[in-house]
Amino acid sequence: MIRLISGIVVFALIVTAAAWLADRPGDVAIEWLGYRIDTTVGVLGAAVLILGASITLLYMLWRGLIGAPGAWFGSRSESRKRRGYRALSLGMVAVAAGDADEAQRQARRAESMLDDPPLTMLLSAQAAQLTGDKDAARRYFTAMLENPETAFLGVRGLLMQATRENNAPEALRLAEQAHRMKPTTPWVVQSLFDMQARAGQWLAAQETLQEALRNKVVPVERGRTLKAILLVERSRQAEARGKNGEATQFAREAFLTEPSRIPVAQRYGERLIADNDHKRVRKILERAWALHPHPDLAQLYLAASGNTDPLKRVQALQELTSERPDDVESHIVLAREALEARLWGQARRHLVAAGGDNPPARICRLMADLEESEFGDGERVRLWLTRATAAPIDRHWRCQPCGMVTERWQSVCPNCGAFGTIDWRSPPPGYSGILSLEDGITAEEMKAITVEKPPVATTMPVPVNGNGAAKKEDDKPLPPPVLPQRIDPLA
Ligand SMILES: [Zn+2]
Repeated sequence: MIRLISGIVVFALIVTAAAWLADRPGDVAIEWLGYRIDTTVGVLGAAVLILGASITLLYMLWRGLIGAPGAWFGSRSESRKRRGYRALSLGMVAVAAGDADEAQRQARRAESMLDDPPLTMLLSAQAAQLTGDKDAARRYFTAMLENPETAFLGVRGLLMQATRENNAPEALRLAEQAHRMKPTTPWVVQSLFDMQARAGQWLAAQETLQEALRNKVVPVERGRTLKAILLVERSRQAEARGKNGEATQFAREAFLTEPSRIPVAQRYGERLIADNDHKRVRKILERAWALHPHPDLAQLYLAASGNTDPLKRVQALQELTSERPDDVESHIVLAREALEARLWGQARRHLVAAGGDNPPARICRLMADLEESEFGDGERVRLWLTRATAAPIDRHWRCQPCGMVTERWQSVCPNCGAFGTIDWRSPPPGYSGILSLEDGITAEEMKAITVEKPPVATTMPVPVNGNGAAKKEDDKPLPPPVLPQRIDPLA
């Protein structure tokens, strides 16, 4: 509308100017190169206007002819790019949906339409992974290493592929490479640390941990625990190499770092016994028992006391457990030793105190031993052993992330490979146990044992004494075990 109005205004102005000039024709004479032209001002003005318009028109025509191919190619390339990015987004959606064929089709389209931006390579690699073409995925990830923008993604892809293929040395090499690129990225630090620990590279793992603590990638408290466990392993390694002094030094450092961990106290105790430092071993085990009691610590304590007389051994354990007399572990070790010393009443008192109304299997078996030793009562022994098979699950060594139960403590979980996650724990509510790889039984057999329990004998003789028999569990309730998780950056 505005254009129309301005057009009319301009036209009106031109007509007015022409009329004004027509009324005042005037004369113009031009003499040039021997020619003479006589005309009016209006004609001259019109001639100048026509000449200017013709030159402008010719110039525009010329520009149009020169620029046409460029503009045509430009719009074509824009459209290609648009289609390329659309293929890229559709490919990403297909990867997320797990549609391998579609992902690969879109990856090929994106690749042909876009000039190797990082995302097309990533999509192609992911599509190749989805179709199970490991070689192609490896090729794409390796190609990504060439470009600084995509190098880290490439290393990550290769690392995950090596982890899936259980190629531990290659995974460790790639984790080191990723760590050099991004030393503060949490998953990189965690992967490198776990791989070094799995490879038994305790010193390297400790260095990684120190750096992680400096960069605040690992919480301080967790860092202390991990450091202590690494030192336990370094102590074992030094001992295996015959470097006993070093072995004791590492064990001591571990205990000073984190005395509440059972394996840490146990390692230091073992080293002190090996060094014949019996006085100190008793002191550190008493301290450890007060923090976190465990039967293995009691065995070391008895070994350090050197007593073979059963009564003196009971006395020694009373000293050990004096800080935690009501803990289940204190009752159990005292009951066991009292049984050896034929102190039936004392043994029974401890078992009742530890077992409560629903004693775990360890206590049921000790009760069977007691009935056998004290009365030779076969029927009661049989009832207690039957009850043991249906008893609630006892404290055990269990990996926190994957729920794997192991017979002995290990620094690296044999199931999920995590380091420093196995602890002596009470079963979480509703826990029915997870197959231990060491047991060598099938998952079905395990299920039969743990889920379909035999019925509890209702006529079970439960000894009662006056002081009540509440079972005390000082461990906090734990979340139910979860399935092992795999780190997958591309998922
Ligand atoms: Zn685990």
